[in-house]
Amino acid sequence: MRKPLIAGNWKMNGSLALLETMKQALTSANIASGVDVAIIPPFTLLMSAKGVLAESSLSLGAQTLHPESSGAYTGEISADMLTECGVSHVLVGHSERRTLFGEDDQAVLARIRAALDAGLTPILCIGETLEEREADRVETVVLGQVKTVIDDLSAEQRSRLVMAYEPVWAIGTGRTATPEQAQQVHAMIRAWLSDKDPALGEGMRLLYGGSMKADNAAELLSQPDIDGGLIGGASLKPDDFIAICHAAG
Ligand code: PEP
Repeated sequence: MRKPLIAGNWKMNGSLALLETMKQALTSANIASGVDVAIIPPFTLLMSAKGVLAESSLSLGAQTLHPESSGAYTGEISADMLTECGVSHVLVGHSERRTLFGEDDQAVLARIRAALDAGLTPILCIGETLEEREADRVETVVLGQVKTVIDDLSAEQRSRLVMAYEPVWAIGTGRTATPEQAQQVHAMIRAWLSDKDPALGEGMRLLYGGSMKADNAAELLSQPDIDGGLIGGASLKPDDFIAICHAAG
């Protein structure tokens, strides 16, 4: 049985006040104990979040990390620094990192390795652009992104990954994949993983991300191969985020 995970990616948004409001709202919302919930605020809030979220069941995530453990990398943050802030999860390969900051599959792999070495749970983000979908290249692109990472890891490392399928054309656009479109890609990823190792396919948590909202979450989350959500815009609104968490429970 895969436990659903709902993770809120705040991107370059939020404040200490929102963190406190969100924690209060989530803890009084009675989210089912069968659902994991993670908040992924910007770096500047992580150390405060460690204190705010202490004693709660909420997990803390970071939005990216640098592959090196320390050194002359002005502006960057390492896995050990995240660990010191109480972080347990880290996004790797989010499409905004890939497109705006030039992170290719090898850069993504280096970050996955650094996260795993530090004992963090990486959430590997994968997904095709609209152009790639229209050119009928979803399978090639998505499985190519998955393969680069999976083929380089040991069975133990693979078992500690979470994946998020996020069609790039659905992120922040209000245009969601239909439940059928999302399920089809999730099933394809799981089949590929199962081919490699049945336990890997069975155990991998595959989240969907891309304009998941309070009003479409239940249908997406009821698909057999969708094990949770990576939520952008709606994770900044406590009522909407809570509704999505309830839909997963
Ligand atoms: C995201 O940033 O991962 C995301 C899914 O954003 P949104 O929910 O706003 O589309």
